[in-house]
Amino acid sequence: MRALQRQCYALATLRLRAAVDQAGGGAGLAILSDIDETILDNSAVMAAAMHNEGMFQNLDTWLLWEREGNPHLIPGAAEFFALADSLGVTIFYVSDRFEENKLATIATLSRLGLPQVCAEQVLLFGPPKARAARRLKAATGSSCSLATRCTISMARSPAPRWRISTA
Ligand SMILES: [Mg+2]
Repeated sequence: MRALQRQCYALATLRLRAAVDQAGGGAGLAILSDIDETILDNSAVMAAAMHNEGMFQNLDTWLLWEREGNPHLIPGAAEFFALADSLGVTIFYVSDRFEENKLATIATLSRLGLPQVCAEQVLLFGPPKARAARRLKAATGSSCSLATRCTISMARSPAPRWRISTA
């Protein structure tokens, strides 16, 4: 699993470098990245839920995790976002985490050392902001064009499956 995660970030790094080379620099380029299971490894709360009947169905479990959880970084994430930052690429963190927990999410991302973590660049769930609309707003509301969209999806069964999409 961890090798696959690293492969995803290796591919994202190639795409990022190519975009920056083509543009002649990172200025004016943006990355839109998902957060959970792309940057943050939330295995701890998932494992706990597997052993406590009803936890999976209880939204409070997740809300508490957003506020007080202690996720780890997905392998490769730290290096990828540090590189993007060093190249001058703007990073938007786009997630369906709850807006009411935005400060906690910002604190979590900051604690893990991720760059460009600020209120303007962490875009969370809240009506009527569909994820696609938020991504569009992030891409067009700033003066940036899209370098890479980073989404790693993990299907929980029957086997882990990772996908990275770039734009
Ligand atoms: Mg996710």
